This record gives sequence, structure tokens and C-alpha cells, in this order.
Amino acid sequence: MLQYVKLFLCLIFLSCKAYAIPLEDSGDAPNLFGLEGLSENNAIGANFIEGDIAVPLQTGRAAYIRSPKWPNGIVPFDIHSLYTNDQKSVIRGAMSEIMKSTNNCIRFVERNSSTPVWLRIFPGQGCWSYMGRVKSRGAQDLSLQATGCVHHSVALHELTHALGFVHEQTRPDRNQYVLIQTENIQSGKEHNFNIFPSTSVSTLNLPYDYGSIMHYRSDAFSSNGRPTIKAIIDTGKDWDSTMGRGKNLSNLDIAKLKAYYSCS
Ligand SMILES: [Zn+2]
Repeated sequence: MLQYVKLFLCLIFLSCKAYAIPLEDSGDAPNLFGLEGLSENNAIGANFIEGDIAVPLQTGRAAYIRSPKWPNGIVPFDIHSLYTNDQKSVIRGAMSEIMKSTNNCIRFVERNSSTPVWLRIFPGQGCWSYMGRVKSRGAQDLSLQATGCVHHSVALHELTHALGFVHEQTRPDRNQYVLIQTENIQSGKEHNFNIFPSTSVSTLNLPYDYGSIMHYRSDAFSSNGRPTIKAIIDTGKDWDSTMGRGKNLSNLDIAKLKAYYSCS
């Protein structure tokens, strides 16, 4: 089945060679966040690309080519009752940061019985999200495993996927900013470092951001502990030890969220 999905994607975009679309992870999805006690990412009815982005089996195309927005920037949600009050506070804190940072242009609101589509934040296996609003009815899952994923930075990262964003280092222009050290990548995981073509992903005319909450760590998918991603622009900061380890939205993350949702 997977082969047909991949073939379908290739046929749609006619760009399999020039711009390889990230393929699905099979099985051992990595721990992108360097966290302890995580299960392998697992979602029913979806595959994963780049470790933590879920792609619906039937509608894989829309998930990462169009990244549908939440209408008017309003994201109805519910948080699973199995979380403790402290965990719920962490999740709400991440939502609050996004809302405050965008001056409430993006808003998370409790769903009600007439909400057509909502984000269901639940303690599944691993930390993952779909990209954008991909469901046309009902609950769209976002998993934050109760033991391992409920951290402010991880919740921010997954919520930002849910708002429609890819990983920063898959931008079409990323080779101008980072060097991918393929010799340190786990065998079979190279596809996680593919680039989206500019026909799929917009940079929103905003700069590349080593400090993005959506950037991989420098040792993502490393087979030997050595870096797989190195910053190649000297900004006067040691990004190799800090990229992918931020705790909050960067100023550029905020600018991109505002641009994508046409915030004033
Ligand atoms: Zn991610």
C-alpha cells in the first residue's frame, strides 16, 4: 500500500528526482527532542515523515503541500481527561504563548458540540502532529505522550506543526544555511533531511532561523552522536549546541506565524 502512496505522490508532483518528497518513517521513529521514556511514534491511519509529522494515508498530499490553515486562526481543541492538572497547565501554557505572541490573531478555544473540526490533544504514543488542519470533520489528533512529551517546548513545536508549519531545515533554501553531514546520519534515515520544493513550502519571505522552535537538533538522526546538521553562517552564536533546544517561539517563529495567518 505504501508503495502506491509514494508512487501517487511522485506522479502528482513529477518531481521525485529533483525534489524528493520526504518519505515515511517505517517503525523506529526517532526521539527528536532528546527526551527520556518515549514510545515510538504511532498513529492509526497515518504515516510519519521527518519523525513527528503525521500524514493521513488517504490524503497525504494535502497534509504537507497545502498545509490548510485553521479558518480565521481559530483552533478549537480539547485536552484529554487522562492528563493531570499540571500537564494540562503545560499544554495550555504553550497555547497561551502562541496566542499572546500573535496578539490573539491565532486563538485556541475550547471546542463545543457544534465544532466541526477540533484538535484533540491526547496522551498517545510519542510526540507528533498533523501539519495544518487536515481533517474535514471530527477530531484531529495531536499526541503528547504523558510520560515524556508534556513539556512547554515540545507542546509548542507540535502545536506549530498543527498550525501548518514544517521543520525549519526542510525549507527550500536551507542549503545556504546548514550543512547536512550525511556520514553521521543513521542508515535509512537520510530522507528526513530532504528539502521541500518552493512550490510546496513558502519561506514567507522571512529569514532562515537557526533558533526556530521548528528546527531539528544538530544531532537529529545521528548514528554516532556527532552532528548531522551544522550551521554554516557565522552569526556569532554557537548554534550547533543550541539549535533545536529552544524553549520558546523565536521572534522569527512569531513573525512567520503572523505572516501565515495574515495577522496585522
Ligand atoms: Zn516536528
